[in-house]
Amino acid sequence: MAKKEIKCSYCGRPADMCDTLVPASDGKSYICTDCVAAIHDMLETYKGGRPAQGGGKVKDDLTKVPKPAEIKAFLDQYIIGQDDAKKYLSVAVYNHYKRLNQSSDDVDIEKSNIILVGPTGTGKTLLARTIARMLDVPFTIVDATVLTQAGYVGEDIESLLTRLLQAADYDVEKAERGIVFIDEIDKIARKGDNPSITRDVSGEGVQQGLLKLLEGSIVNVPPQGGRKHPEQRMIPVDTKNILFMCGGAFDGIEQKIAQRMNTHVVGFSTDSTRNRVDKDDMLRYVAPQDLKSFGLIPEIIGRLPILTHLNPLNRDALRRVLTEPKNAITRQYKKLFAMDGVTLTFDDDALDFIVDKAIEYKLGARGLRSIVEAIMIDAMYDIPSQNIKEFAVTRKYAEDKLAKAHFEANAV
Ligand code: ADP
Repeated sequence: MAKKEIKCSYCGRPADMCDTLVPASDGKSYICTDCVAAIHDMLETYKGGRPAQGGGKVKDDLTKVPKPAEIKAFLDQYIIGQDDAKKYLSVAVYNHYKRLNQSSDDVDIEKSNIILVGPTGTGKTLLARTIARMLDVPFTIVDATVLTQAGYVGEDIESLLTRLLQAADYDVEKAERGIVFIDEIDKIARKGDNPSITRDVSGEGVQQGLLKLLEGSIVNVPPQGGRKHPEQRMIPVDTKNILFMCGGAFDGIEQKIAQRMNTHVVGFSTDSTRNRVDKDDMLRYVAPQDLKSFGLIPEIIGRLPILTHLNPLNRDALRRVLTEPKNAITRQYKKLFAMDGVTLTFDDDALDFIVDKAIEYKLGARGLRSIVEAIMIDAMYDIPSQNIKEFAVTRKYAEDKLAKAHFEANAV
């Protein structure tokens, strides 16, 4: 009978692939030094007696984490413009990984949660989604408006971690390294300056509840979300390494920025300097104190140290959104048609027309898709049953189809 091969009972590697194999007291099982180190790391991470799930290596190899410039180059493939936001985000994500790998000496690198300020439809969610795709980590989007303070109608704040757990197939360890995008954070701004006058259950109360999640603590999460109830089994989730990204349009924040800047400018500058600040460009000067004036509590602002902005998309940017990103709308339609063996093309002036309509109806980038959809519906219906090899969308075709779809009436 062949002699039984000695191997690590944890990772299964044979003796000749391991440095040392430590025998167990039963004389039959062994553990290699790599597994001992991995278990040690895992226990360090889960101090406090919580179970380590999923096993595997807890720390990342920093050499495998893309550098900030590589992260930005990846984002460039999917998102038009927004260079400032991309840069801030790339650095924040890179530092986040450094933080996950930091040694436990006296300097503690703090979490770099992010807040993105910019009009709706300028790419905030797209940025967060694209980063998550690049890093291959669980990602979830939660709308801040559905959250309410514990005890009130709505969803408990912890339920946003339920979504992350679901995205990670309930692998707690994976979820604990994921990204949560909290959309419409501006909608939970404090209403009015004096919070004690009325109970502000969906504003300041929610902000207070978010604090402990943002800074990092062990939170009991209801596995099915919604409201907690006493008999429910809870899953403890450590939010220490979860990256939170918040986004909001902060409508009207330009006025707060302008007010602050005027008071600053007075005294050491001339009116001409003041006039040079372009109103549409105001967001680029956004600072933490503007978020406070808008109604975010200082503790929340403090836990979202990376503040950056997104610009409104101008005509040129919208035109590029149509064709340039890796999964640009026109590319998606070309792919759909190609699957039927049809080569689809869009004339330049047809694309210009689509952009003009998106601007005219004030629909921004989000509207581009619905306009193209309205134009393409007949072609998508008819062409699969016709023997056509090529199809060109001309301006005339686009105009006719959009008029027929009564898009104008539907858009407003
Ligand atoms: P919001 O800023 O409201 O989160 P989204 O990221 O959801 O906006 O953008 C809505 C859609 O508009 C996206 O799915 C994408 O198709 C398009 N879009 C918006 N901004 C950009 C951009 N900068 N580059 C490419 N596409 C964009």
